Amino acid sequence: MNYYSTEISNLIDQLSRLPGIGGKSAQRLAFHIIDMPMDQVEQLAATIQRTRKNVKYCKSCYTLTDKEICPICASEKRDHGTIMVVEDTRDLAAYERTGRFEGVYHVLHGALDPAMGKGPEDIKLKELLKRLQAEEVEELIIATNSDVPGEATAMYISRLVKPSGIKVSRIASGVPIGGELECIDEVTLLRALEGRVYL
Ligand code: ZN
Repeated sequence: MNYYSTEISNLIDQLSRLPGIGGKSAQRLAFHIIDMPMDQVEQLAATIQRTRKNVKYCKSCYTLTDKEICPICASEKRDHGTIMVVEDTRDLAAYERTGRFEGVYHVLHGALDPAMGKGPEDIKLKELLKRLQAEEVEELIIATNSDVPGEATAMYISRLVKPSGIKVSRIASGVPIGGELECIDEVTLLRALEGRVYL
């Protein structure tokens, strides 16, 4: 049923396609946007466009950044011999918030999930292996999620990397990383990191 004019319905429809935004939230956001001063709306639209256009993968760790090489990879203060493998940029951000991890990262952008048709080609795995060949890496800390795809990915990477002599560790299990990331406190993340087991 179309209670609103086409323009309003169209805006509600577009907003409701965003993750976590149901019909009611989309409606609330749409009316909020319509009430906003024009210059603020223009600023919001321009920011969305600019961010989408300028953000790309870091050439080294594949996190999202607006630079060729992200600030973490570019930093000389970080330990480039320790790489933490995470599923996405939000996981990286969560570990960065602890302020205690001094290594660098590798962002896979997903996990192996045969049930969903997601194989090694669909995540940044070859990129990781290439990196391990090109750089002096001492330890690879696998911090993928503790769900089935995350565990499968950890096992897969461990099998590939261990023969090379690089130390491979897995963060302590039972720590849910991913969807509810914001809910995981820093103490829990640090405990998982410190309690990592060598594979
Ligand atoms: Zn990077």
